Formats: sequence, C-alpha cells, structure tokens
Amino acid sequence: MRPEPDCRLCGLCEGRTQVVYPDGRPGGVVLVGEAPGENEDEQGRPFVGRSGKILSDMMSRHGFSRSDVMITNTVKCRPPGNRDPSPAEMEACRPFLQSELQSARLVVGLGKSACRDLMGYDGPMAQVANRIVSIDVGGRQVDFMPTYHPAATIYNKEARAKLDEAMGMVAERIAPDMRFGGFMLDMDGTIYKGGQPIPGAREFISFLRERRIPFVFLTNNSSHDRGFYSDKLRRLGFDASEKDVLTSTTATIRFLISERFGRTVYPVAVPGVVREMDDAGVPIVDEDPDIVVLTFDTTITYEKINKAFHFVRNGAELIATHPDDLCPTEDSYDIDIGPFIRMFEQMCQTTAVVIGKPNRLMLEMAAREMGVRPDDTVMVGDRLYTDIAMADRAGTQSILVLSGETDRAMLESSDVRPTVTLGSVADIPSLVDRLS
Ligand code: URA
Repeated sequence: MRPEPDCRLCGLCEGRTQVVYPDGRPGGVVLVGEAPGENEDEQGRPFVGRSGKILSDMMSRHGFSRSDVMITNTVKCRPPGNRDPSPAEMEACRPFLQSELQSARLVVGLGKSACRDLMGYDGPMAQVANRIVSIDVGGRQVDFMPTYHPAATIYNKEARAKLDEAMGMVAERIAPDMRFGGFMLDMDGTIYKGGQPIPGAREFISFLRERRIPFVFLTNNSSHDRGFYSDKLRRLGFDASEKDVLTSTTATIRFLISERFGRTVYPVAVPGVVREMDDAGVPIVDEDPDIVVLTFDTTITYEKINKAFHFVRNGAELIATHPDDLCPTEDSYDIDIGPFIRMFEQMCQTTAVVIGKPNRLMLEMAAREMGVRPDDTVMVGDRLYTDIAMADRAGTQSILVLSGETDRAMLESSDVRPTVTLGSVADIPSLVDRLS
C-alpha cells in the first residue's frame, strides 16, 4: 500500500515537492527515519542527504548497503522547515508505514520521533538505544531496535558509536551466506584508480596474505603484458608479482594452447603482447593464419586492420581477448577493442569468440590458478556488465565496489545483482571476519 503521488491525506501535501517512497528491499530489516528533508523532497528518495551519507558509510563499514535493507520514514512528505512531523500527520501516514513493516523481521527506529511513534517511548535515547524490544505490527510481534538518528551523531561521539553498533547488529541479521575460498580482483576502479591506490586497498591485500586466502588480479586490458601490471602494482605499493596477475591475453593464450593447439595465429597486438604469445609457444605467422587474435592494440595501423580483414574473409577464425568498448584513463575513457570486433564481424559476416570478462572462462581459469572451486571464489569489481555479470554467469559470488564506475543509481536500475555491495575493498576484511 503506497500513498498516491498527489496524496492529500494531511497538510504536508501543501509544502512538499513529491512523496518520498521507501527504498530498498522489503522484508528483512526496515530502517525508519522521521521525515524527508530538503534533499529527499527534491530527489524523491529517503536518506539521500547528509544523514543518508552517514548511514551509507556505516552500512558499508559493516559489509552491507542500503539495497540490502528497506529505508523509509514515519511520514512520506517533507514537513515545512524540517520540523518534526505532528502526531496527526504520522497518524495519516500510518497505514503506509504499517504495510511497509508487514513482512519485516527487524525494525530499526532512527531517532526519537520514530521511536515515539513505533514503540511509544518518549524518554532519553541513551536509556534504550540498541536494546531490542518487541512491538506489535498489525497483530504480529516484530523485533524493534531504537537507536540514534544519523543527524544526532554529527557532533556526538557516543551517539555515533551507538548508531555504528546498531548497524553492526543489522549486519548480523542480513548476513549473506558467503564462502571466501579465493578472491578474483579487478584492478582499475577496484584496487587503484588511474595512478593512485584506492584507500585501504594495500591493507586489504596484506589482509589476504596474512590469512593465506588466495587471490588473483584480473584485467581485460590486453594492451600490456602481465609484467607491466605487476610492475604497476608494486610501484603503487602492493605486494604483488607477475604470477598474481591474469590478463585477458594470458587467458587467450591458454585458450589457444588448450582448445586450438598447433593452429597458426596472426595477432593484432602491441609488440610486448606478441612476444608473450610467442614465448608461450603460440605459432605466430604473418601470412595465411588459422586464427586472427584481436587485442587492445594501441599500435594498430590500417595495414594491420586490412591484413586481418582479408585473413578472416578468407576463413581464419576471429578471436578477441575481451569485449570492452571503452578503457578508463585517469580522467576520461579511450576507445577499446569492442568497436573493432564489431567492424570485423560486420565486414567478414562472422562472430568472434571473445575470451575476457564477462566470459566465465576467465573466472574458471583464475579459480584453477588459485586451486579453488569456482563457486567458492568471490569476484570483486566495479563494473556490473563485466565483473559482476561474469560471476553471475558462472553462478559464483560477487562483491560490487562503488569506488569506480558504478554508482547506486546504476546498481538500482540494473538486472545484474552482486551478492554484496560495498564502498570499496577496504570494507572486505570486516565482511570476511563477520561471515567466516
Ligand atoms: N532524515 C530523516 O529522518 N529521513 C530522511 O529521509 C532524511 C533525513
């Protein structure tokens, strides 16, 4: 049951811009604030301003996000001047709140007015904060936890610690069932961004080493060899070597050796990548190949394109290292391999075999490398349509980090669902500790 967009059940309709509907996942845990403020009124979503940021940061530290819970308010329209909602206004909105709490297992009251409304308590918060009681919701007894409103924690350290503890207790209730046999780590946007490590990423890698949890860095970028990435990681202060990196080139080489053994290859690639293929025993030729391998070749020329075109038109198989259209740079994006794949497919009336993420082949190779069953591994990345889609296709676990390309709005409008969403890899150690 939801209020109509032009709801006129109480006087709050006069000053609101729009009704602020609940956000997130019904059932499970429901966080109830008091009333929308200015930002919420503008955006039509609860807790999107300063209080929302405090809440989201705390959730992230405890290994979950707002899409794992439902967030709502006692009233769905902004009271003028951000005053508290009146008892009559809360009463008018109660049927909506009641229906939102219908299948809740834990209700968290954020701040005094939510607690007054839901548990009938009007005393100091310090006396009841984080103590779970039972409340009646439509004839059903439901756990209720009163706690501080995020706004009350801005200048009050004790209140902040209590709200943080409350989010830890929520995390216990929504703990997903996860196994941490090994981690597959996307790099750009996940471990570093441009030339800077993501804050907390080096500590995360040290944590994995201390716990002896295997990991492998994965990249679709085939414009450099493995050594380039391990050098870059070391330069940024990571404890990493060449064997910790799996690029889409390495994955393609393994595919060629295991699935196309002995077939000759014409690579469209930078010299370092041609060398990597040659060193691995792939038969490289300049004329009449069995296969054309397209990589992210930053030295591509008309001559190479045209040669590859004639080879594929004459029957050579087209294999591409990865499908990405764009490659992130420090402050923008460069054109990647995707448009070239489409050009060859269209001009030669063929379909390329594409190896890198989101092809599950890459994940299976990484799992083999770590000696872990694919469904015990966790793919960590910032891109829904490559990193998380690959884990989805392979039926394995995934963590989406919001430190790179994807933001909450993109996540909410996507069909691809990660197992868990976190602010960054810095939040993973506490998730592992909590769920192990
Ligand atoms: N404070 C609240 O109580 N609710 C919101 O949605 C935002 C701030």
